[in-house]
Amino acid sequence: MAIQRTFSIIKPDATKRNLTGAIVAKFEAAGLRVVASKRIQMTLAQAETFYGVHSERPFFGELCEFMISEPIVVQVLEGEDAIAKNREVMGATNPADAAEGTIRKDFALSIGENSVHGSDAPETAAEEIAFFFSGLELVG
Ligand code: GDP
Repeated sequence: MAIQRTFSIIKPDATKRNLTGAIVAKFEAAGLRVVASKRIQMTLAQAETFYGVHSERPFFGELCEFMISEPIVVQVLEGEDAIAKNREVMGATNPADAAEGTIRKDFALSIGENSVHGSDAPETAAEEIAFFFSGLELVG
């Protein structure tokens, strides 16, 4: 498998509890390299666009309000098979189902406040990276 890039968000529940470094340490221990990183606070319009694929889901409003409630850290992670590896390190969406040692098992509060986002496919990774980062910010 080739070297890939994927997009990650450290969500409000985690930045609020000062877990940014602990979460980045899990990425690095898994062989993922942070090649771009910034702390931002999304607007409601940005959150609604980013999560547009979920707009018909019952939790959409709650999800968008949560994602703008505190700053987030958006990152580009690079490594061998980075998209799948990041999903593995994140763990299942619901922390109750997440495997031991994963970010969501160790840190997530609930299925909604689950500490991290990670792209699920190469197309979404490319779209999500471009949504938050310009080419000049991606130095590798
Ligand atoms: P992911 O790829 O593992 O993040 O999961 P999904 O793409 O299915 O869902 C996107 C995000 O929506 C999740 O990470 C949660 O933050 C949120 N979410 C998913 N299901 C629920 C739910 O049942 N309730 C609430 N409040 N949020 C949810």
